[in-house]
Amino acid sequence: MLSSNLAAFDMDGTLVQGRLVFALADRFDLSDKVRSIQSHRLMAGHEQTKAIAALFAGLTTKDLESTIASIPFTKNCERTIAALKDRGYKIGIISDSYTIAAGFVADRLNLDFVMANKLQIFNGKITGKVDMPLGWDRIGCYCKISVCKRYHLEKSADYFCVPIENTLAVGDTKSDICMIQRAGVGIAFMPKDEEIKKASDKIVNEPDLLKVLNFVNKAF
Ligand SMILES: [Zn+2]
Repeated sequence: MLSSNLAAFDMDGTLVQGRLVFALADRFDLSDKVRSIQSHRLMAGHEQTKAIAALFAGLTTKDLESTIASIPFTKNCERTIAALKDRGYKIGIISDSYTIAAGFVADRLNLDFVMANKLQIFNGKITGKVDMPLGWDRIGCYCKISVCKRYHLEKSADYFCVPIENTLAVGDTKSDICMIQRAGVGIAFMPKDEEIKKASDKIVNEPDLLKVLNFVNKAF
């Protein structure tokens, strides 16, 4: 059966409370280094992702998995996903975090698709190298981040034969803007920076994911 709607969620700060990269950095005493890379204005987003992944070289997949498991879901995350599923939505994560984390969250929520950066692992350890899906290079998106969310929203909608007007996108930072602006309904959830506040007229300022449904369909 063809699905007529699709929802794409950012992961960090949207489906889960907090950010995996910060949680890892805190735990392994790399916070200053991560912050210094992220504040590097001349470095494009995808270059920052590469530099941050290199900092994690030597950590084990177990280190990653236990850190991921310690990050709680956002309030009413499961209920929101269930309500969208009842409506026949295809649902997925488009994240500039890592597949190992996004896959874990997607499994727990039983989602339909996942797009994220893939950390290269050798003998159970992170090598420091990362495979980035990119996408902005193909469609000329300004974002230049490791996962162009607009490109992957369009690709997922195509894959599930959902018209782009019937898509919902939810995110909380400027890395979500290109996706939010392209989606039929684009929502800034608990926005963390001025850029995304300015880019979206649909904003949820309460830490309750169920509130995004107010913008989707009054019947919720
Ligand atoms: Zn983009």
